[in-house]
Amino acid sequence: MTNLEMDGVTKVFREGGGGEIVAVSDFTVDIDDGEFLVLVGPSGCGKSTTLRMVAGLETITSGEMRLGGERMNEKKPGERDIAMVFQSYALYPHMTVRENMRFGLEESTDMGKAEMNSLVEETAEMLGMPELLDRKPGELSGGQQQRVALGRAIVRDPEVFLMDEPLSNLDAKLRSQMRTELQRLQEDLGVTTVYVTHDQTEAMTMGDRIAILNDGKLQQVATPIEAYHQPANLFVAGFIGEPSMNFFEMERDGSKLVGEQFDYALSAETANELGDSTNVTLGVRPEDVELVSNGSDEHDFETVVDVVEPMGNENNVYLRFADADESKTMEERQTFVATLSGMRSIEEGQEVVARIPEDAIHLFDTETGAALRNRRLDQEATLPNR
Ligand code: ATP
Repeated sequence: MTNLEMDGVTKVFREGGGGEIVAVSDFTVDIDDGEFLVLVGPSGCGKSTTLRMVAGLETITSGEMRLGGERMNEKKPGERDIAMVFQSYALYPHMTVRENMRFGLEESTDMGKAEMNSLVEETAEMLGMPELLDRKPGELSGGQQQRVALGRAIVRDPEVFLMDEPLSNLDAKLRSQMRTELQRLQEDLGVTTVYVTHDQTEAMTMGDRIAILNDGKLQQVATPIEAYHQPANLFVAGFIGEPSMNFFEMERDGSKLVGEQFDYALSAETANELGDSTNVTLGVRPEDVELVSNGSDEHDFETVVDVVEPMGNENNVYLRFADADESKTMEERQTFVATLSGMRSIEEGQEVVARIPEDAIHLFDTETGAALRNRRLDQEATLPNR
């Protein structure tokens, strides 16, 4: 088993017209032996290009990639001990499951047929699909095909697994089942894994660490909980979490933030963390907004319930500030969302007092996006109370 290092890895595509596209810029991360790293970001941010460089399907323009300390840049895909699983399962339709799984072995080893067969059978057993071995891909469901694609990668016993959105063709229920299964498998096998997705839920639930990319640039590498509670910048704060963090653009006036919707008084300690920044974005996670019966705190605000989205276990409640900018009609005012227990009854049009506790707020420099201050976490409880 092996660690995988990306050191300043950059990919520049040359366009026909002579222009350049920097798909990945100065990507640096050290993925531990046996670690599950999820690469996440919006469409076009450079995830697949990064993975393809690791696989050797794309050249590296500059920087270095090392596997177990050995430079890989010039090695052909077949010379890297890496197996890749794609979104499209890429199975050969005319071959049986057994032949599809054996094919990878035939390509990469000089094992005898009997040995290959027993490895294929062992792997099929591990994936709970021994009865599928003699079927062809056309006779399998999407979930089963994905399992075969996984099996084909596992049977090779590689140093590294690369997975490019492998679950995105599956329906929601199967996807969440396969998520758990994949995680368990990866843990049992202990193979270093890089998993690409644009789905932040997959990133949060599967990764030992997640690497968040935007516009070809790495924004943060952190455990899911760190990325959620201690985002490095506005992009990460907005990308991780569903519903997204609420943001309000404010201006600093001494130890107070002044905004279009409301003003927010800061303690001296929090105000100190702002440094020289004057344009500040205040962020608060929906589950940290409290609805209280009697507003008496300086961080309580009169609001009106705009929309309630019942999710069963919880309600997403969209609120508007009641006493914000008089020149704007209610509909023109920005909404923000609070997540409340599904057992609590709340109705559209209801007037409620929303509390935005100072402990829970994040503050960002609006110009650079950098986090100036993240929410306080109790030593004991790392997750906020609902
Ligand atoms: P998605 O989630 O939509 O698959 P992605 O994050 O995987 O997106 P990439 O496919 O890595 O993004 O693409 C990153 C950038 O590089 C995009 O701007 C894309 O248009 C560009 N790009 C990718 N491949 C090429 C290529 N062969 N030639 C030119 N530009 C390319």
